[in-house]
Amino acid sequence: ATPTSVMVGTGKGAENGILIKDATSLEMAHKIKMIVLDKTGTLTEGKPTVTDFVTVNGTANNNEMKLLQLVAAVERNSEHPLAEAIVNYTRSQQVNFPEAKDFQAFAGSGVQGVVKNQLVQIGTQRWLEELSINTSYFQQYKATWEAAGKTVVWIAVEGKIEGLMGIADALKPSSQDAVKALQKMGLEVVMLTGDNRQTAEAIASQVNINNIFAQVRPDEKVAVIKSLQGGRGRDKETRRQGDKETRRNKNFSFPTPHSPLPTPHSLVAMVGDGINDAPALAQADVGFAIGTGTDIAIAASDITLISGDLQGIVTAIKLSRATIRNIR
Ligand code: ADP
Ligand code: MG
Repeated sequence: ATPTSVMVGTGKGAENGILIKDATSLEMAHKIKMIVLDKTGTLTEGKPTVTDFVTVNGTANNNEMKLLQLVAAVERNSEHPLAEAIVNYTRSQQVNFPEAKDFQAFAGSGVQGVVKNQLVQIGTQRWLEELSINTSYFQQYKATWEAAGKTVVWIAVEGKIEGLMGIADALKPSSQDAVKALQKMGLEVVMLTGDNRQTAEAIASQVNINNIFAQVRPDEKVAVIKSLQGGRGRDKETRRQGDKETRRNKNFSFPTPHSPLPTPHSLVAMVGDGINDAPALAQADVGFAIGTGTDIAIAASDITLISGDLQGIVTAIKLSRATIRNIR
């Protein structure tokens, strides 16, 4: 790229709240064929709120509040956004927090601690089942909440299910239009999340995404990106080679809409906000970080969307096209 056209592109990006780290990313963005979107904090606001709470023993004898105390005591040690939602909810109920001992977090699964000499475990149904805890409770609540796109959090005390929470996280107002615009440009849009399948499907259907990777553990996200890239690694050589090919191929055009799933070596972009997303952002051919997300995600990315507005991806791709046109 001529330094001038890249400077113009980078400048226009900045004016639009898009920070582009290097010339290569700007030149590559128009060649992306697939865009992988994290759910929580990327498609959604990332500000979850507890909307529902039920207990096995109902509300008699202040049962709910007693259980909530145990839950909050453990969750206040966690940095997960869901933990923050639970702690805020507990505060609003004016319940005080006892001390928790032996706190442990299990990435992608949940948390545990000992409160008042009882082992309290909070997390996904899958995790509690792995711990041999019977989760055949609350089938109706679970189904209803998940169909509404809520994350369902299971609560066990001393190895027995005691309660269930429904936590909602609204879509960003820009998500629907941004996904539609990306699909219109011919990109395959994919959702990647650690959340449960039913919840992920409910959110995906609200934005018309058909390709979903759900219940992906934090350390597996990078492997998903790699497999979508056809198993190749991202390295500077691949990126430079790709640039040369684009410049050579004057007839480059976007793939047709809803083209079949990943062909090896097609360029894959990833958009994310969390610490968990950082390795995947680094692996992707172009990594987009949500500017309101964690510093680690921003550091691992190539392009930062300052306000977190997903329309910024569309703008970045258009800028990339314009930059390449100026180069030729
Ligand atoms: P995401 O990719 O949606 O941000 P994570 O991989 O961080 O999700 O976590 C996956 C799932 O593990 C969450 O949807 C939640 O059900 C459960 N989980 C993780 N941390 C906690 C926690 N502190 N409290 C309750 N549940 C948790
Ligand atoms: Mg996220």
